[in-house]
Amino acid sequence: MSKPILLLNCGSSSVKYQVIDAESEAVTATGLIQRIGEDLGTIDHTHDGNKHSDQRVYPDHKVALAHMVAMFEQYGPSLNEVVAVGHRCVHGGERFRETTVIDDAVIAALRELIPLAPLHNPPGIAGIDAARAELPDVPHVAVFDTAFFSTLPAQAYSYAIDTDLAKRYGIRKYGFHGTSHSYVSRKAAEFLGKDMASFNQIVAHLGNGASISAIQAGAAVDTSMGLTPLAGLVMGTRSGDVDPGLTPFLANQAGMSIAEIDDFLNKKSGLIGLSGVNDFRDLEPMMDAGDERALLAMDVYVHRLISYIGSYLALLGHVEALTFTAGVGENQVMVRERTIRALEPFGFVLDPEANNARSKQARRISTPDSPVAVLVIPTNEELAMARETVAAIN
Ligand code: AMP
Repeated sequence: MSKPILLLNCGSSSVKYQVIDAESEAVTATGLIQRIGEDLGTIDHTHDGNKHSDQRVYPDHKVALAHMVAMFEQYGPSLNEVVAVGHRCVHGGERFRETTVIDDAVIAALRELIPLAPLHNPPGIAGIDAARAELPDVPHVAVFDTAFFSTLPAQAYSYAIDTDLAKRYGIRKYGFHGTSHSYVSRKAAEFLGKDMASFNQIVAHLGNGASISAIQAGAAVDTSMGLTPLAGLVMGTRSGDVDPGLTPFLANQAGMSIAEIDDFLNKKSGLIGLSGVNDFRDLEPMMDAGDERALLAMDVYVHRLISYIGSYLALLGHVEALTFTAGVGENQVMVRERTIRALEPFGFVLDPEANNARSKQARRISTPDSPVAVLVIPTNEELAMARETVAAIN
C-alpha cells in the first residue's frame, strides 16, 4: 500500500516541495515556487517526469500554496491519498528536541522561537498555516534542523558567557543540518555493517552551507554550527568562525551597522568573500588558471575543515569513520583529497582512484586497510524528513 507524504520547505520567498511514498521511498512529485512577495512569481511542478510551469503573483505563502494545490489537482498526483505533511523547521530552540506533530500550541511555541531564527522561522510558520488550511484533514509534522543536536553535552553547547544572560535569551550552540547528519550517520553505520551503539564517527555536510559533527553511539556530541548557522566551517557565502571581536571592529572602524555586518558575514563572506565566487564549479577553473584568490579560498576551506576534524578526533578519542556528504562533499574531489592526505598520520588512508571516481552511490574512498574508513554518502534530506514524519504520526 502506498503512503505518500508531502514535504514542504518554506523559505522567505520560495517553497520547495516533494511527495515521497513512505513505503516504496519513490518520489512521485517535486516542485519549486519562487518569488513569493515579488511582482511575479513562478511555479515548476514535476510529476511522472513531466514539468509544468506557470506564473502568478504570490503576495504571500497562502496564495502560493493554494496554487501548488491547484497544480496537483490539474497535473497530479492526487493529494487525496497524502497521509501527512512534513514541514522543514530550521530552529526548534530548546523546546523541540524531536520531530513533533503540529497543533495550535506548537505553532504558538514556534512563534516564540522567532527571535532565534528571524529569517527562517517566520516563512516556516507561514507555510505551516497555509498548508494546514489547504490540507486540514491530515496530520502536519514539524521536522527540526536542530533536533539531532539536542544530545550535545553542556560543555559543548555552552558558550563561555554569563549564564543568566545565556538562559534568558536561549543563547547556546544549537547546531543545524540535523536531518542530514542523522540520515548520513545511520547510512554510514549500515554501509560498514556497524552497530550504532558502539560506533564513533564524524560527518562532514559540505554544501553551500556546511557543518561537521562528532557522533558517538548515534548521538551528536559536538557540531560546528552554533546559535545560528553562521558558525564553523567556511561556506559558500558565510564566513564560518571569525573572531567575535570582528563585529565591534567593523562597527567602529568601518562604520558598518549591525544589519550590514550580518549581511556581510552571511552573504558576502566564505568562498565568495575570499575568491569572488561561492560555487566550487566556478572556483575550479579559477584555481586551474592559477588565480591567487581562488587558491587561497581553497587553502582556507581545507585548513578549517582539517582543524575541525582534528578537534573531533581528540574529543571522540577513537574514530571509525569519516563521511563526506552534500554538494561539495559528494562532488569535490580535491577538498576530500587534501583533507584526507593531511590526516594520514591519524590513520586515514586515501584510495585516490576511488576518490576520483564519480558516482551517486554510497562508497568508500579510503583503502580497504585504512584504520579509519572514509566514505562518501549522498544525503537525502527529503527522504529523511519523510521517514521522520511517518515515525512521528505512528
Ligand atoms: P548543496 O548546498 O548541498 O546543494 O551544495 C551546493 C554546492 O556544492 C555548490 O555551491 C558547489 O560548491 C558544490 N557542488 C555541487 N556540484 C558540484 C560538482 N559537480 N563539482 C564540484 N562542486 C559541486
